[in-house]
Amino acid sequence: MQFVKRVLVTSILLALSAAAGAADAPKFDPQRLSDEVKTLSSDAFEGRGPATPAETKVIDYVVGQFKAAGLSPGGDMKDGKREWTQAVPLYRAEIHGPVSASFAIGKDAVPLTQGHEIAIRAAMDGSKSVAIDKAPLVFCGYGVKAPERNWDDFKGVDLHGKIAIVLVNDPDFETGKGDFGGKAMTYYGRWTYKYEEAARQGAAGLLVVHETDPASYGWATVKNSNTNTMFDIVRKKPTESHAKLEGWIQRDATVDLFKRSGLDFDALKKQAQTRDFKPVVLKDATMSAKYDVDAQVITSHNIVARIDGSQRPDETVIYSAHWDHLGIGEPDAKGDRIYNGAVDNATGTAALIEMARAYAAGPKPERSVVFLNVTAEEKGLLGSEFYSANPLYPLATTVGVINTDALDPHGPAKDFSISGSAKLELLDALIDTAKQWKMSFTPDPKPEAGHFFRSDHFPFAKRGVPAISYGSGDDWEQGGKAAGQAEGERYVKDNYHQPSDEWHADWSFTGMARDLQVLYKVGDDLANSKRWPNWSQDSEFRAERDKTASARH
Ligand SMILES: [Zn+2]
Repeated sequence: MQFVKRVLVTSILLALSAAAGAADAPKFDPQRLSDEVKTLSSDAFEGRGPATPAETKVIDYVVGQFKAAGLSPGGDMKDGKREWTQAVPLYRAEIHGPVSASFAIGKDAVPLTQGHEIAIRAAMDGSKSVAIDKAPLVFCGYGVKAPERNWDDFKGVDLHGKIAIVLVNDPDFETGKGDFGGKAMTYYGRWTYKYEEAARQGAAGLLVVHETDPASYGWATVKNSNTNTMFDIVRKKPTESHAKLEGWIQRDATVDLFKRSGLDFDALKKQAQTRDFKPVVLKDATMSAKYDVDAQVITSHNIVARIDGSQRPDETVIYSAHWDHLGIGEPDAKGDRIYNGAVDNATGTAALIEMARAYAAGPKPERSVVFLNVTAEEKGLLGSEFYSANPLYPLATTVGVINTDALDPHGPAKDFSISGSAKLELLDALIDTAKQWKMSFTPDPKPEAGHFFRSDHFPFAKRGVPAISYGSGDDWEQGGKAAGQAEGERYVKDNYHQPSDEWHADWSFTGMARDLQVLYKVGDDLANSKRWPNWSQDSEFRAERDKTASARH
């Protein structure tokens, strides 16, 4: 008893001294967070699939919370007034019927089976049927055009009517040293970038060569996520973002193809790791492909609340989190078909609601603060992509974006992280602020997996807006790294994207409540300053931000 008392007194004193610099951050209520996560992840919310009946329930609930907290609607403008949502039209495409695909090398015909040697995505360029007849094949190294790094894998090759074959990850992944962050993945390493670049190059198609290490996942993942239903935002000119044929090819099939046209895959890969690499046309080799595509437009919604800034309302700080999860799907071993998504991402949505409540209750910030609860993250960051492509508030005067996805509902940690690796002043500010809570920054231990490009802050980053996704730390105050990492691994194995990602009564939410204080302080400091944090000089997002520098004062 005595011992317990002393420990208590010591921890209160410690807490007081730690909170001294953080005294102006409001307290967050773990019970509220728990209640909100419980509601949003209950079976009644049907796993929160976008454009399903569950969407209305989510919108009603989140908007109800925003209203009760005293926020203003921040969504689409209708009759001179803002609504609580931003309509997000989504393009949904699916291959209908069989896929016929093959290579021809001289007289040899090599049939390609969908899901086995090749994984072709439903066309996203607006095509209802794809018929590619004997398109020449060109190996384009890593498919990278990076002027700020003086790197161009295309060297002026004309890809119209041709299929490009490119390697996954970026040119210095294998050597671990070079202009693309070494082992860490730059955006140039991500397959989404490679598809975008193929469209810019005017290619008829692009195949990414799958290799497990540089991809960071096996062929099963490639197959499962590319041969099912595809989603994109509705684009005015989809051909500017998508070539007709987009897909992946197995490494073995590529090695065989190269061999048949007299080329050595490994030797060419080595060349592709140098600046002098030039695209290689595969001699006498072509690809043909034929399949039909079912496409339709569905509409989902981002939920948006705001607080008008008192001094500079046209400057905006954004907090974001996705509300959607996987909906109702394949049953697990217990027959459960509802993918509740308690951690992913009822936690982030609850965090957003409570953050909004804290701002509404506090002094009005000088700049505006927007609370953006995006849809369709699980379909490829589409709600955030749509907002960034159709911003309700100008991106040039958006100060920064702080996103949360899958926060830890347990107790507090001694550290925190962000998704992926990036160098920007917003992260410096976060690291600095977290010190007031004696929290240290733990960098992403696996930057080569490209997590920076896989969360909702990224569509903003790509357009130059300083943006990060905050991640709960795993060096727990109770149990240290052993406990935190074990729980992280257990979650990924047993719950992640499974019907068992459900709310638990024994979750304390005290860690989240403390993390929210830190994130409040970072955002509040920005919202009451004239600072415009930027990317580091060598960041691939810096040039895009600097283009609009004159809009910021
Ligand atoms: Zn998520």
